[in-house]
Amino acid sequence: MSCTPEPPEAVRRCRLRIRGQVQGVGFRPHVYALARSRGLSGWVTNDTEGVLAEVQGHALPDFLSDLVDRAPPLARIDDIRVEDLRVEPRPVGTVAGEFAILESRRAGAVATEVPPDAAVCPACLEELFDPADRRYRYPFLTCTHCGPRFTITGRLPYDRPQTSMAGFPLCAACAAEYHDPADRRFHAQPIACPECGPHLSMPVDEIAARLAAGEILALKGLGGFHLACDARNGAAVARLRRAKQRDGKPFAVMVAGLASVGAFAEADAGEAALLASIERPVVLLRKSAGAAALADGIAPGLPWLGVLLPYTPLHYLLFHEAAGRPSGTGWLEVPQDLVLVMTSANVSGEPLVIDGADAARRLGGIADATVDHDRPIVVRADDGVVRQVAGRPLAVRRARGAVPTPVRLARPVPPVLALGAHFKSTVCLTRGADAFLSQHIGDLDTAEGLRFFEEAVAHLRRLVGSEPVLVAHDLHPDYASTRYAETLGLPTLAVQHHHAHIAAVAAEHGVAGRLLGLALDGVGMGDDGAAWGGELLEVDGPRFRRLGHLDELALPGGDAAATQPWRMAAAALHRLGRTDQIAPRLAQHGPAAELAELLRRDLRCPPTSSAGRLFDAAAGLLGLCPVASFEAEAAMRLEGLVGVPRVQAGGWSIDADNRLSLLPLLESLIGRGAQEGAELFHGTLVAALVDWVRRAAEATGLRQVALGGGCLVNKVLAEGLIEGLAGCGLAVLTARAVPPNDGGLALGQAWIAGLRAGETGE
Ligand code: ZN
Ligand code: ZN
Ligand code: FE
Repeated sequence: MSCTPEPPEAVRRCRLRIRGQVQGVGFRPHVYALARSRGLSGWVTNDTEGVLAEVQGHALPDFLSDLVDRAPPLARIDDIRVEDLRVEPRPVGTVAGEFAILESRRAGAVATEVPPDAAVCPACLEELFDPADRRYRYPFLTCTHCGPRFTITGRLPYDRPQTSMAGFPLCAACAAEYHDPADRRFHAQPIACPECGPHLSMPVDEIAARLAAGEILALKGLGGFHLACDARNGAAVARLRRAKQRDGKPFAVMVAGLASVGAFAEADAGEAALLASIERPVVLLRKSAGAAALADGIAPGLPWLGVLLPYTPLHYLLFHEAAGRPSGTGWLEVPQDLVLVMTSANVSGEPLVIDGADAARRLGGIADATVDHDRPIVVRADDGVVRQVAGRPLAVRRARGAVPTPVRLARPVPPVLALGAHFKSTVCLTRGADAFLSQHIGDLDTAEGLRFFEEAVAHLRRLVGSEPVLVAHDLHPDYASTRYAETLGLPTLAVQHHHAHIAAVAAEHGVAGRLLGLALDGVGMGDDGAAWGGELLEVDGPRFRRLGHLDELALPGGDAAATQPWRMAAAALHRLGRTDQIAPRLAQHGPAAELAELLRRDLRCPPTSSAGRLFDAAAGLLGLCPVASFEAEAAMRLEGLVGVPRVQAGGWSIDADNRLSLLPLLESLIGRGAQEGAELFHGTLVAALVDWVRRAAEATGLRQVALGGGCLVNKVLAEGLIEGLAGCGLAVLTARAVPPNDGGLALGQAWIAGLRAGETGE
């Protein structure tokens, strides 16, 4: 992408074709301002492929580099094509020396995108706290560089009439800003002011007073409602926890700014950058001693705290009110006392509430009051969750702020739709080399969850505008997503769960060739119908081969074993020939004698190679978390205890069928202290897995390994594997922008199905 350098005297004319996320992000004003400041003539316009411009004048290479380097914050340039044209004495559409923004061209197929939602930008914050500004303390101020996008847009093109701002005609002052190419709100679709825009159902001072008095409020936000309360108020937090019916699952807290984080949690430079990023995810941070000042019920028994910074004007106004309404933004640079619990407003297992009437009905028993507003949420989006792993972010939940940014595949594939798994559901639709992964949908166990899933599929199809030729789903026949696939009347492809986990990581990195895959996961159905989850695979695009797996443990009593780590401890004791110790050691946690009998007679004890259940077995043997109150709780508690991982000599073996057994390690945990046991478990597991993968690399000649599956959100495990495998000279691929857990599965399914559809010419 370059016009070759020439003497500054030479006048040249170029046509620029810019693709990526370049509409609705202030790209045309950016081109306009740059061209004007350099005395270039020409024009710029939006069309269905992105931005098209013609520029004429001197020093075009400098113009082009500024075009990229100084691009607006929400822009993402995938591609710029530059074509030299004949210099025109009097450029088309303008007079010489002038530059114009032309009407959008809308004919043809849509190839553009809706931008993700973005946190309030610094310029808008200045206005929010400037008593002289006409948008002073206005909870819906936005501009070209910030505010709602994805969550207010039902269909393309992204224009105000297609968003939930359609019902708010601009006042004269806003209209003037909207139409002025020199204004920072030029063509900002969601702009509003107190005259013409949306309003809250409750004044900010009343909201703040109620929170200060210990009330739980349902607050309407960008992608849904939050349940909010004062994080220092133990009674309010305990009441919220009881009402939400979740015993130990941690709540996220919101603090005023980066300066206020340090009182409760440790954030290094990378974590601080994540907290302050325009995506504003919940960042999992290590608690500091000061976290004791927060209510006990926020993240009980865990060393991490989910922290997020304000991202809507309303969030900022709550902290502003508590700070005594200071002018300017300087107060955000000093620690503020207010800390709010901000948790998704839903009833256990159901999707996020987005509608005021729904909030009153479904959250009535939880919230003391509902704070609504009249800008409808068109598309639901939870807060994203991110954790820093090996110095870089890793998505735990990909949602608001990250969607609908596509993943760029290694090459274009026919359009395919992938429906994900059953828990942490997301769906994915491809268009060319772009894979659009939906926001986090959640679990598909409830009627509401399924309805949201179907809405998300329909919305994604409208936004992306491609017609799938193949529908990918999990191999498991009982997943709601699998049953849904069969209703679409399109060819379907069942994709093995762990193949998809590895393919997701390969897809994210644009890797198409053969590679090793290490999937460390809960349970997914294998192609032999068994419960897989600790798999060493050789993956070659749409095909895979199972090279080896973790030695199986029984799942005593079937599914119940997944939420009751003491049962996995019983399974481990049985494998160790210590069946008679099950009842004396584990009777306080449940029907241990009956379980021992099931194990002896091999009744209702299906085998699993799941890595997640191996963590459960270790936790159970160490007496940690015998019964989990939320998914992966045992693994989280185990990880939380690790100071320095240590290796148990002789802790593993690999047999002739390439089964990796950690039974010696499990045996050595019996009777150990929890912390020592957790350190031995992590250190030995990492060493064993590295040994296993290294041997497979030697046997196959493959030098690249992808790590996938839900266990990879474990930082100790992920960092240990990355370091250990790199130390063997292997290239290690890990999930980053797309979660390694089932939230990323649809991407892997889509990549596999796309490759398959490309082969068969479907
Ligand atoms: Zn702004
Ligand atoms: Zn207005
Ligand atoms: Fe999985």
